[in-house]
This record gives sequence, structure tokens and C-alpha cells, in this order.
Amino acid sequence: MPHGLIVKALSGYYYVLPEDGENMTSVQCRARGIFKKRGESPLVGDRVLYGLTENGEGTVDEILPRSSELLRPQVANVELAVLVFAVQEPALNLQLLDKFLVHTESAGLETIICLTKQDLMVADATSDSDTLYQPQKWSGSSAKSGSVEDVEILSGSMNYIVELYEKIGYQVVVTSAKMGVGIEPILERLSGRISVFAGQSGVGKSSLLNAMVPGLQLETNQISMKLGRGKHTTRHVELIRLNNGGLVADTPGFSQLDFAQVEEAEDLSACFKEFQPYTAECKFRGCQHQHEPECKVIEAKDQGKISASRYDHYLHFLTEIKERKRRY
Ligand code: GDP
Ligand code: ZN
Repeated sequence: MPHGLIVKALSGYYYVLPEDGENMTSVQCRARGIFKKRGESPLVGDRVLYGLTENGEGTVDEILPRSSELLRPQVANVELAVLVFAVQEPALNLQLLDKFLVHTESAGLETIICLTKQDLMVADATSDSDTLYQPQKWSGSSAKSGSVEDVEILSGSMNYIVELYEKIGYQVVVTSAKMGVGIEPILERLSGRISVFAGQSGVGKSSLLNAMVPGLQLETNQISMKLGRGKHTTRHVELIRLNNGGLVADTPGFSQLDFAQVEEAEDLSACFKEFQPYTAECKFRGCQHQHEPECKVIEAKDQGKISASRYDHYLHFLTEIKERKRRY
């Protein structure tokens, strides 16, 4: 029985791309009744066994085990998330970036950080100094979020952000869809697997995908999206095929960032990769790295081994999670 991959689900049909690689046309399939009886349903991204019927259609006969199952968008077997942030328009929000990172970590996805619209980067210090990105503002622990979070990036301080996240272990790629910069390194990582792009609306996700796939014309510009189909209208997910065998969901991931999946303080600190060498060394078991004595995470932050901004965001999310727990 042939293997295939579901690239689209619409009106009760599943579109299965044969896995032999030769034929690029998908087969329109119905799911076998057995799935319904078991309370299962095939998902976009599922690797399946399918059979052909007389009329050129097919049936999905078996779903192969999933390595992951994402809820938004509902896609199986996603391995990689590309977190897209603009250096400008909208202003880069590092707290939001760290929140996305918590979500990709808790979902067990590999993550690339993409800083796009590089062509808009401010070249010199002519703007109001209060809104400028200044690393020294983060050297102390302010433990509050404010204007410092939305930063206007100068070309020099961009390196600081790139270094900060690279040091933690994330690949950071600086791109411009407009100028065609930085597209190749991302394409390389997307090769041969299923990925999602995530990020606020208007950061340039669709533009990047259009730059990666010849002939693709995803709607860009958030304004027309709002007037037209609208961002909140539910619609089907489809996987876009890249010519290196990669598949990318055409709908952004993690549209709701509400920590529903991260329930405990422990789960949260596990999502901060750079905390890991220290968490086991804290004096108290179950240390939440908040204000406990002999907390090694706090010590590492005070010694500059953990960035103060990352630590501040951790505290912020911890409060959010605790409040959420109180309410439910
Ligand atoms: P999405 O909502 O994340 O998919 O963002 P879009 O791709 O729709 O882009 C939002 C707006 O940003 C559009 O007006 C794009 O033309 C613009 N844009 C996207 N990428 C770039 C870029 O690299 N440079 C510049 N200057 N503008 C961009
Ligand atoms: Zn601790």
C-alpha cells in the first residue's frame, strides 16, 4: 500500500501527496469509516497509507504514528517553527519573542528566530534616545515590562540581540523579503520537513514565504487581510511545498499565546534553555527562581550568565501562569 502525506483537508476530502517523490499531484481521498468509529481523524501533516479506488480517487487507510500534533494550526508532525519578528513596523518586542520561545519549547519544536525587514533598520542614533535599544538598561533586574520592551533597533545593537539568542543556542537569521536577503539559510533549515511560521500579523511572514516559493502569492499587507477574509475567520490549513522537499503551513502558528500548555512553574523554567545548567543546583527543590535564597538561576543572572531581560520575562510569565491557575 502506498505511503503519502496529507497536504490539505477540505470538505471531507484529504489531499495525499504520494511519498515516492516522483508524482507531485496529490490524490483526493476519503477517510475510511473506521477512523470515525475510533474517534480519530486524519490531520494535515499526517503520514498515511492510502489506496486508490477506480475513479482516480483514494482512501486514507491508516495514519502512521505522529511525532507531534500542533493545535494552532492543527497540523501533525511539525518539527520546526520559524519565529518571525520585524526589526521595525511593528517594533521588535522581546517579551513577545520570549513568549513565543516558551511555546515552541513546550511543543518540543526546533526553533529559528528570523529578524526581518532588515532594510528598515535605523542606521544611526537620530531617534529619541528613550526608545532606542540600550543593552545597559537590562543589566539590572527591573522585573517590570515597559517601554524598554519595544525597541527600535540600531544596526549596532542588532548584533547584541543576535548574540543574546545565539548564545542560548538558537539560530538567528536576519532577513529582508523586500531585498531578498537571508532567504537561503532559512530555506536550508526547512528542507525535507514540516514547519510553521509564527509571529504577529504584519511582521512579514507571508512576504518571506512568497520570497521562498517561486509563483506563490500569499496575500500580504495586513490591511487588506482585515478588510477581506479577515485574520480570525477559520479556514482550512494547507501545506505549501518548497522545491527542497520542505512543507510549510500556510497559516501562522501559535495564534493564541495563553500558556494553556504550560501549567506549572517547573514547566516554564524548563522552556528557558539557558536556565537548565543551574536549576538543579538551587538550594530548594521546587525553587521557582523568584526570590528564594541560594537560587542558582538568580546568581547566574546577577553574574551576567543569564540575560536580565530573559530573566525578567520569565518572572512576568510566571506571574501570568499563577494568575491563570487562580482563576481556573
Ligand atoms: P504577515 O502579516 O506577517 O504575513 O506580514 P506581510 O507579509 O503581509 O507583510 C506586512 C507588511 O510588511 C506588508 O506591507 C509588506 O509589504 C511589508 N513587508 C514585508 N516584508 C518586508 C521587508 O522585508 N521590508 C519591508 N520594508 N517591508 C516588508
Ligand atoms: Zn532557583
